[in-house]
Amino acid sequence: MYTVNEICKNGEPLPLQTDGHLRVVFIGTGAAFAKRRRQSNMLIIQGDHHVLVDCGTQGPLALEDIGLDVLQVKCYLPTHSHADHIGGFEEIGLMNRYLSKNSKPEMIILPDYEEDLWAKSLAGGMEYCESKQGRPLRLADFFKVQRPSADQADGGMVWNYQHGPIEISIMRTRHFPDTAVRIEDSQWCSGVFINRRVWISGDTMFEPEYPLKYAKIAELMFHDCQLFQGGIHASYNELMTLPESVRKKMFLYHYGDNWDQPASWVKETDGFTGNPVEDGFLGWAEQQMAYDFS
Ligand SMILES: [Zn+2]
Repeated sequence: MYTVNEICKNGEPLPLQTDGHLRVVFIGTGAAFAKRRRQSNMLIIQGDHHVLVDCGTQGPLALEDIGLDVLQVKCYLPTHSHADHIGGFEEIGLMNRYLSKNSKPEMIILPDYEEDLWAKSLAGGMEYCESKQGRPLRLADFFKVQRPSADQADGGMVWNYQHGPIEISIMRTRHFPDTAVRIEDSQWCSGVFINRRVWISGDTMFEPEYPLKYAKIAELMFHDCQLFQGGIHASYNELMTLPESVRKKMFLYHYGDNWDQPASWVKETDGFTGNPVEDGFLGWAEQQMAYDFS
């Protein structure tokens, strides 16, 4: 059972605790280059534990929108190396190391992806920062690295990590390049399944096996959604091919700035309205709202 609730009433900051229930807050729900919405990064909170899944270039601003800053967030999980998902990590690392008396937030990450994230994205601004550092700095100098463990679950490979009461299951997705036919041919990208209740697709091309599988076990699903066909995300048209029983458990996120102007992206031949509720989904995921699970 879940409810959707307003947060930050009267400008209060979002508490990073709950009374013990699971809470999911999208600090943004927009696509990579969206300007009307923040980028699709989400806070998972339960009891006195929390994880921020991704922190893109606008992530620090999106936290400020809800009265928080990167120093208050103590645990991160990056899903892949597009800047709308990891563009905020330099700020997080440098702020913690140099402005917060050497504090180290946690980062949940697999070894191979850690190497990639560091060498190809973060090292440029973070590797050489101190006159007497003696050696190039590493990700582990900025973050307390936490390793999920590999497992076979529900017929596929997953990596599990227990963060207090929050059970996180990570699965690979096929996101980029657009020519990747198999997940193994694509760059590292992942979705998450939280407490075996909430599935968040992560950035992904359309892989019907995942929503079909998680619809059977998840209470609620969030799927990334692109308003045109082709490219590296699941399109609205493709998601419409899912059975109604699957769509009715699903909110859509990672949408472009014209999401609410269906005339600009729905064709007459499409056979749907572009209003996700009328088309059988739960709706557009809303940023800065809490999805609370009792
Ligand atoms: Zn992406």
